[in-house]
Amino acid sequence: MPHSSLPAPRKLVVATANPGKLREFRSLLAGLPFEPTSLAELKLPSPAETGTSFLANALLKAQHAATLSGCAAVADDSGIEVDCLGGAPGIYSARYAGPHADDGANNAKLLRELAGVPHERRTARYRCALVFLEAADAAPLEAEAEWQGIILAAPRGNGCFGYDPYFWLPELNKTAAELEPEEKNRLSHRGKALQELRKLLLQRLEARHP
Ligand code: IMP
Repeated sequence: MPHSSLPAPRKLVVATANPGKLREFRSLLAGLPFEPTSLAELKLPSPAETGTSFLANALLKAQHAATLSGCAAVADDSGIEVDCLGGAPGIYSARYAGPHADDGANNAKLLRELAGVPHERRTARYRCALVFLEAADAAPLEAEAEWQGIILAAPRGNGCFGYDPYFWLPELNKTAAELEPEEKNRLSHRGKALQELRKLLLQRLEARHP
């Protein structure tokens, strides 16, 4: 798309306190007419994640950021669903082992829950929902994606965060923690949802500024 016809850049709040996610969003928005900032940079609080789905949580985070800042906003919500645990930890992935649990405690709880479950029944998927809002009351742009894997009983790899050292990809024979960051961004739930949202944003901008 010829970007010369795009409007002047405007501020866009990325509704996250996580610097890693802010970096990913900056690359999503590269070349688009937005100046990304974050809730943390604006010293605004994060909302309670009270939604009952990834999409509902992403929407409430984006609405919160757009309302408090008066700017456009983008937000994500993500987590992992394990089939034989009925989809747990799901939207509770960040606090599976308790309200302030770290990755180690969350992974330890997941392994306890899966003790004795054979490899072929340890199927799981990461999921990510993204929401973009031009203003708090505007119609949202939404993108969702997932990434299938199997939960190992022992960790492999040092990269990344969260459940990645246990999230094994059969087609690559690697865990998510063994992938290069570029490869993970291309394949992952968040990477694919970001690519989809970028496509929707470009379509919307192009329709307005052909
Ligand atoms: P959120 O920040 O509320 O979206 O919570 C996401 C949680 O899901 C994280 O704290 C991780 O536990 C887990 N998670 C989501 N995406 C990933 C990933 O790409 N790798 C590892 N863990 C992830």
